[in-house]
Amino acid sequence: MAMVPALVLERQNALSIREIDLSQDVGRGMVRIALDVVGVCGSDVHYYTHGRIGPFVVNAPMVLGHEAAGVVTEVGAEVTSLKQGDRVCMEPGIPDPSSRASRLGLYNVDPAVRFWATPPIHGVLTPHVVHPASYTFKLPDNVSMAEGAMVEPFAVGMQAAFKAGIRPGDTAVVLGAGPIGTMVALAALAGGCARVIIADLAQPKLDIAAAYQGIIAVNITKARVADVVAELTDGWGADVVFECSGAPKAWEGIMDLPRPGGTIVAVGLPMGTVPLDVAAATTREVRIETVFRYAHQYDRAIALMASGKVDLKPLISATYTFENAVAAFDRAVEARPTDVKIQISMR
Ligand code: NAD
Ligand code: ZN
Repeated sequence: MAMVPALVLERQNALSIREIDLSQDVGRGMVRIALDVVGVCGSDVHYYTHGRIGPFVVNAPMVLGHEAAGVVTEVGAEVTSLKQGDRVCMEPGIPDPSSRASRLGLYNVDPAVRFWATPPIHGVLTPHVVHPASYTFKLPDNVSMAEGAMVEPFAVGMQAAFKAGIRPGDTAVVLGAGPIGTMVALAALAGGCARVIIADLAQPKLDIAAAYQGIIAVNITKARVADVVAELTDGWGADVVFECSGAPKAWEGIMDLPRPGGTIVAVGLPMGTVPLDVAAATTREVRIETVFRYAHQYDRAIALMASGKVDLKPLISATYTFENAVAAFDRAVEARPTDVKIQISMR
């Protein structure tokens, strides 16, 4: 038994910092990492407040946290890509490498994937974790640990930009200016969009997004997104529309946004079904793509951050110590419109 401190979700609405047995050997191809920064994700908060996300139910105490960066402290046999002392961030999902999905390159949709802080797999709000070297990525010197812990949500944005098939000069729309929508907007700009129109009902979130060059904010309580798009594109429509709110309502009228032959990318995960005007999509050959997490995006995400093309630092709203991790989660539950990402410093 190796008891270690961790932030444990005991059951719905019950979080505690306590000792838990997480002993793990550093096997072949694995590394041990001392966690440095862990971001609080909407999914962690949802497990806290609801005890489940769809079919994933917290039936036993589970350590939270999956957006992480740290330092390699030990390397297992046959690890050549990393050494002790390397600053790294980690992909939280470990697929079965021999599964059919993995062999197709779609390891993010491998049904057997083991993803941190998705029941019954523990997350990383604890001092150390053992992880495959192949899902552990070195951080360049000019990318901080706090930024390293932002690579996970930004990789979702990267996957969305990829699935959109952005071409230089495209005009994009992003529905929802939460952390995911804002990071999708930044990935879309980095991927070649000339401008991104981002829509939300919370003005402070729009203000944070609109501080970036190339992002145009629309408050949906004051204007119709379709009107703004029509005005900016002479009635043609947006090349790409990213749905990042997860609100079923955002799908109402979404077909007014893309141009003929344009693309809608579903990133938000609505609870339940949404209205979709299939005839409106079909008669204009609107392409619909979906995104689930990411595959092969971490190295590209890190490269963009290191290049200076993407700066995620303004999205870090507050940093709590590990001792105050429960307070960090309670603040995340408050969902202040001025907060984007809350992080927990582990050292
Ligand atoms: P969030 O709740 O912080 O942000 C959602 C934003 O949408 C909020 O700012 C809200 O005000 C806004 N909104 C609500 N209704 C709207 C509407 N009708 N039009 C425009 N904006 C509206 O959530 P988040 O962490 O940014 O995540 C966004 C969504 O992405 C969630 O549904 C989440 O489950 C999903 N998600 C998907 C993936 C994936 O791999 N596909 C990964 C992470 C998160
Ligand atoms: Zn996350």
